[in-house]
Amino acid sequence: MNEKRVLVTGGAGFLGSHLCRRLLEDGKEVLCVDNFFTGRRANVAELLGNPRFELMRHDVTFPLYVEVDEIYNLACPASPVHYQFDPVQTTKTSVHGAINMLGLAKRTRARILQASTSEVYGDPSIHPQPESYWGNVNPIGPRSCYDEGKRCAETLFFDYFRQHRTNIKVARIFNTYGPQMHPNDGRVVSNFIVQALKGQPITIYGDGLQTRSFCYVDDLIEAFCRLMATGPEVTGPINLGNPVEFTMRELAELVIDITGSSSRLTFEALPADDPKQRQPDITLARRELQWEPKVPLRVGLEKTARYFETLLKETPVPA
Ligand code: NAD
Ligand code: UDP
Repeated sequence: MNEKRVLVTGGAGFLGSHLCRRLLEDGKEVLCVDNFFTGRRANVAELLGNPRFELMRHDVTFPLYVEVDEIYNLACPASPVHYQFDPVQTTKTSVHGAINMLGLAKRTRARILQASTSEVYGDPSIHPQPESYWGNVNPIGPRSCYDEGKRCAETLFFDYFRQHRTNIKVARIFNTYGPQMHPNDGRVVSNFIVQALKGQPITIYGDGLQTRSFCYVDDLIEAFCRLMATGPEVTGPINLGNPVEFTMRELAELVIDITGSSSRLTFEALPADDPKQRQPDITLARRELQWEPKVPLRVGLEKTARYFETLLKETPVPA
């Protein structure tokens, strides 16, 4: 068996389940590790019959001894609601999880990709954000467990690279959406679509003029695979996301239009430290990976809305 053995931590989550599916399609052997904090078995249920797929319940804050060729380290809740639920565990997952997975990469000489985040830029004072920007992060706020945890994980990746020559790839992911998101995930795309489909008010936090740039999941997974396939000289950090920027009001209006919903907009308090704007500079990804997102927001939202429509019919989510 010459196929690569690939470990995906957080593999039962939103991005992880798409990645596992893609890796199996590419002929890889996949070990999916998850503690099911935000991930669900249902996300990978259809993969369980594949003889090249294995699912293991494990918390990455504890060491893991397996033999693998590549590691995608995705384990970490990504939605503010979930990562703030147990902030100490969030930091442990990012930091201890990175140490454990880097230790595994060092022992097995596996290449390892870290799912970092645009949150390392905090509330940015440079726009759009290039990888050279060091960020504007509050170290003691409610988002800090996630932001600083991810920043520390990046530090560890680069220290393992310098100290042990570990083959690292650090991806800074900007807001990504698509089917398989949890309906109660709390992130803006899933919230708006579920609210629109149920005819409930669409909750805009603040004045809705803050911006984000949304990348469809298939585009992101393609970038992951391209980044993993690069030579050891390509370490990142590298921004992965869609540079087309929207306000939350524009997003809400687009969702209402696509779903034909009669929902109205309602305005709620802006969460603390909510970044005002965010847009990736993807010059590096274009150059190193010959990659850029292909799926326009409307098309991606239509696919995502169809997914949630089916899901809500099967299992209505409590209001
Ligand atoms: P998600 O919450 O759907 O998936 C995270 C997965 O990690 C879940 O399956 C969860 O159960 C698992 N997990 C959490 N803690 C764990 C632990 N201690 N041990 C093992 N498994 C654990 O989120 P997602 O959107 O799929 O995000 C995946 C990764 O990508 C995360 O690291 C996140 O920080 C990063 N990221 C995502 C986005 C995005 O927009 N989706 C943006 C930036 C970064
Ligand atoms: N947001 C919103 N309504 C919601 C959920 C989120 O207006 O129901 C806003 C949130 O305040 C932020 C943006 O949408 O400005 C993106 O939020 P999300 O939690 O998806 O991700 P973030 O980029 O903040 O991590």
